[in-house]
Amino acid sequence: MIRINDIIDRILESDPDIDTDLVERAYVFSARVHHGQMRLSGEPYLSHPLEVAGLLADMNLDVVSIASALLHDVIEDTHATEEEIREMFGPEVLHIVNGVTKISKLTFDNAQVRQAESIRKMLLAMADDIRVILIKLADRIHNMRTLKFHRKESKKRQISQETLDIYAPLASRLGIYWMKKELEDTAFMYLMPDEYRRIEQMVDKDRLEREQYVETVKERLGEEMAEAGIKCEVMGRYKHFYSIYHKMVSQNLDFEDIYDIIAFRIIVGEKYQCYEALGHLHALWKPIDIKFKDYIGRPKPNMYQSLHTTVIGPYGERVEIQIRTLEMDQVAKSGIAAHWGYKEGQRLDESVSEQFAWIQELIENQEMVKDPEEFLENVRIDLFPDEVYVFTPQGEVKTLSKGATPVDFAYMIHTEVGHQCTGAKVNGRMVSLRYELQTGDVVEITTQKGHTPSKDWLKFVKTVKARSRIRQWVKTQDKNRSTALGREMCEKAFRKYKLNFNTILRSEEMDGVVEGFGFKTAEDLIASVGYGKITPLQVVRKFLREEETEEDQRPDDSILNKLMGRMRKRKKPRTGVSVKGIDDMLIRFGKCCQPVPGDPIIGYITRGHGVTVHRTGCVNALKMNPDRRIDVEWNTAREETFPVKIHIRSYDRVGLLADLAANISKSGANILTANSEIRGNQMVDSVFTLAVKNTQHLEQVLASIRKVRMITEARRINT
Ligand code: MN
Repeated sequence: MIRINDIIDRILESDPDIDTDLVERAYVFSARVHHGQMRLSGEPYLSHPLEVAGLLADMNLDVVSIASALLHDVIEDTHATEEEIREMFGPEVLHIVNGVTKISKLTFDNAQVRQAESIRKMLLAMADDIRVILIKLADRIHNMRTLKFHRKESKKRQISQETLDIYAPLASRLGIYWMKKELEDTAFMYLMPDEYRRIEQMVDKDRLEREQYVETVKERLGEEMAEAGIKCEVMGRYKHFYSIYHKMVSQNLDFEDIYDIIAFRIIVGEKYQCYEALGHLHALWKPIDIKFKDYIGRPKPNMYQSLHTTVIGPYGERVEIQIRTLEMDQVAKSGIAAHWGYKEGQRLDESVSEQFAWIQELIENQEMVKDPEEFLENVRIDLFPDEVYVFTPQGEVKTLSKGATPVDFAYMIHTEVGHQCTGAKVNGRMVSLRYELQTGDVVEITTQKGHTPSKDWLKFVKTVKARSRIRQWVKTQDKNRSTALGREMCEKAFRKYKLNFNTILRSEEMDGVVEGFGFKTAEDLIASVGYGKITPLQVVRKFLREEETEEDQRPDDSILNKLMGRMRKRKKPRTGVSVKGIDDMLIRFGKCCQPVPGDPIIGYITRGHGVTVHRTGCVNALKMNPDRRIDVEWNTAREETFPVKIHIRSYDRVGLLADLAANISKSGANILTANSEIRGNQMVDSVFTLAVKNTQHLEQVLASIRKVRMITEARRINT
């Protein structure tokens, strides 16, 4: 059993100046609160936190990690309180111990194994300090080493399965390969004892022969490198059993067919020598091209660096060889922990920003990256968990984007659950639908039959699924509305010509007309009438003889022309406004309030004339049926002008109108109509309709009008 002095020695070995007081105090406290407790092995409980702390000391972790490791079980298993830990060891240690405790409370049954990836990500996300995960992994290593003391077979299997599914991949992801191998092999031994023993025996069987082989390969490689003047160390090691087993199963091979159960490693001094060594190696033994990987030029997200190649060896067999520097080898062994040294006061933030710089560098050298998408995906999962992991009431883990809300969660469960979602409970408490979900939350959605989504949800949902489902719903709603409206309009128009629209709708003639308009179904045609793209008269005409049709009379506004010579003909249907979510809608502007770009606006679906756009405050608009209301926005890429009414008050004088006209035209606006009335007190009230580009332009025009002599007031007329 390891003793505290061994741990202190290990710490001081790496840096004699380090202050180990925190570790010593943690030990004394842990010994006191765990006093009298036993492990299943019969050893005092304290042996467990000591072993875990010892593993972390071996990995050169900081004193905070080691102290936290000594205390990692005290909150869960002893009478020690959070306040005590905070007071005696500070908030940082408490934060880490709490993190480990939180994770330890989670257990995963076999049904959740298929969600292993989500669970791993959840653990990473929950541990906002990577040291929590490192302690948890060391904890699991020691628990696996002592698993034999568990009496219940089923318990051993459950813990082993969890280790294989969750913790071994986690160690691998962090680049701590020695942990990954040990966790896998121990779990493998408990889960598949027969297969484990078979591989053990087979590896053992030809051991002498194989050792001879390893020597031969090492010797040849050593000679070759020496000749090239590359100082190096060559090692040959058995792959761990689980990876041999995995290879047999995944590639359907017999043990005899697996030649490369031994992997060779060449350790050189400098980075450039890696490539040099590779060149000489490939000259010696022919490489299998597709098997070459350059993790030096393109490190793994967990910082693993090495060259991997597979060559045809001296006996025509495949040989896997890794080439790296001593420094890279250390990183390969302890992964992220290698970058977590004994620097006093070093915090996670700093380390993360270091990693960030490192990743930044890689991203800038993207041409080196063969598969950038995969690479970025890995980086994202490992270091920037921008996802949250929440539970359903049944304990299933769901992964959502950070910032996701209960509405996103509801749509992830099912589109109908999303549509009918009326409220949400998080951890048993009612929350707003805008609540930002946190990792670990248990989310329960309340639904109500017949409830429908709200357009407002689009303002806060984060997931693509929720967004697209809500949009789709809104679109369908708009279409339904347009279809109902179109039907109403058609019925009316047909009635005018003594025709029954509903009878005609079912006629063969109608099919031809639908096709003639370029639609697939009659419903599309009707909706199109509702949208205002086609007038009902256009449809009716298809069912009438020529002479029966009558042109609808347009109101003649030419009376206004008489006032000013500059009058311009109004353009045909104006665009300049788009309806959210609908293309090509026929747009008209309310004559009452005459919106111009820059004004807040709102649209109303009208009977037969598409959408009429009003200013938001227009009194007429306020009287309209809110069901026909539709969101619209300005879309004025083109040079267009819009009519706007202004009121001008001035003293009567000769040449007033001429001066006004000159100023208006100088500021780039056209006069459409003008009407003046003389009041009793020598005052003139004039109403002009001007064509302006937008509200800003209007302000300029008004400003220039106000400069005209004898003008007392000039303003836009609001309805
Ligand atoms: Mn423990």
